[in-house]
Amino acid sequence: CVKHPELKRSSVYKELQEEDVDYFRTVLSPNNILYHPQPETPEQSILAHHNVDWFNLYRGTSSLCLFPTSTDQVSRILRYCNDNQLAVVPQGGNTGVSGGAVPVFDEIIVNMSKMNTVRSFDSISGVAVVDAGVILEVLDQYLEPKGHMVPLDLGAKGSCQLGGNVSTNAGGLRLMRYGNLHGNVLGLEVVLADGTILHNLSTLRKDNTGYDLKQMFIGAEGTLGLVTGVALSTPRRAKSTHVAMVGLTSFEHVQKAFVMAKEDLSEILSAFEFWDHDSVGMVKQEMMQDTAYPIQGKHAFYALLETQGSRDEHDEEKLNDYLERLMESDIAADGVIAQDNTQVKTLWSWREKIPESMAKAGVAMTYDVSMEVPLLYKMVEDAKKHFGEKGLLGPGKLYSNLLGFGHVGDGNLHIMANVNNFGHKAQADMDEFVFKWAIKHNGSITAEHGVGISKVGYMNDCKSDIQLSLMRAIKTVLDPKGIMNPYKVIPEKSNKQ
Ligand code: FAD
Repeated sequence: CVKHPELKRSSVYKELQEEDVDYFRTVLSPNNILYHPQPETPEQSILAHHNVDWFNLYRGTSSLCLFPTSTDQVSRILRYCNDNQLAVVPQGGNTGVSGGAVPVFDEIIVNMSKMNTVRSFDSISGVAVVDAGVILEVLDQYLEPKGHMVPLDLGAKGSCQLGGNVSTNAGGLRLMRYGNLHGNVLGLEVVLADGTILHNLSTLRKDNTGYDLKQMFIGAEGTLGLVTGVALSTPRRAKSTHVAMVGLTSFEHVQKAFVMAKEDLSEILSAFEFWDHDSVGMVKQEMMQDTAYPIQGKHAFYALLETQGSRDEHDEEKLNDYLERLMESDIAADGVIAQDNTQVKTLWSWREKIPESMAKAGVAMTYDVSMEVPLLYKMVEDAKKHFGEKGLLGPGKLYSNLLGFGHVGDGNLHIMANVNNFGHKAQADMDEFVFKWAIKHNGSITAEHGVGISKVGYMNDCKSDIQLSLMRAIKTVLDPKGIMNPYKVIPEKSNKQ
């Protein structure tokens, strides 16, 4: 494990043997098994792609990746692993940002990409029932001609899967309008650690018959069971979408523009995103060299607003009036409205490509904290001050870039940094600063990416003993042998006693 050299493999788990692989060969066809025992280096393994996370920060050494094609196969795999004390890591699109989807050591990877069928869609209720391995963008394209959309959108939409989205309770770009997956998921099919299939694929919007069990698996990051099916409420696709970008001189003005957007655009406002000037330079340098930035001059901040409604002229008029008021009140220094779909996509690209551009620029660490909106950018300023005063920030220094952007509408900041000479200390120092800062300001150390392996060391600082012991109790009931995604989310023991 790159980031946590202090972690030791637990001897509780059996090491994989040939006989185990022989069993899996009776469950899956040969082309659904990737097996590579003891490669010279992890990079040489045919599993390298499945052992390493999207940001190249976490690396496991699994020699087996299984690709089930049915819920029954998942059940047989987990039953065998449970009986034989073999640890498992569920894997979706492997776009997660907390190191949750890759093994820490030699856990067997169960990759869901081959369970990728849309099972049904009901056009009256708008409920789609899908296999967990369906890719978000593929489902959205399936729904488009039917006049519906996935209520969730994020930069990784071309690779991430519905099962991964559910397991991380992914937020994304339009959460402020369409809500999170705790509300939009109506039912789940989950295979528990011992192979039991929990058939809970309800398509009902209202159902108060006792505990809402599916909620436990939403955001559980694969530690409680393996999600195989998802029933999702999908809203009507808006007939009219408009996107505007504005330049702003301070974060105070970003907040004023946000409040005014809620006043003037209310029910049609579907996204309000912001980023700082350094983010623009990063995207320009790494991914959009040939595209002119839509706003002239240099502004400290930019905000992207999106409206989704049903009357084009009405929505356009509202957006124009809003922008006029912003300019007249000197809140925005400059602004532009996309005139067609191509321009809509281009404006969104300046926001969506920030994480990928950082990853291209070098080893990138990414954080997603939530807190009261007025505090959001103060964290970035304080981080710049903290590392700047130590002489660690700037071109060629330990942290070469540090920038902030995020979902203002949800009080969610992404702070990212490129690290030169990546090592445990560089990562640990930035973690310490960001997580302690968020906790001190009553924020959350993860608004949407989840805990995974990256933040498990801070769970004792941000959760009470009672919260943690309840989490452990739930884990023990559902996964008594602890085979599901070990080492992650729940810390070993409290450091408070
Ligand atoms: P994976 O990365 O494969 O897995 C994530 C976690 O879920 C792991 O713990 C894994 O074990 C578990 N898991 C996966 N599938 C299953 C399953 N079927 N059953 C049980 N457990 C499972 N996230 C946001 O919330 N908002 C954003 O705006 C956002 N933007 C992003 C932009 C980029 C460029 C990138 C690379 C990532 C972004 N992410 C964002 C993070 C990531 O895309 C989401 O967390 C996404 O939901 C992960 O889906 P996945 O299929 O890739 O899951």
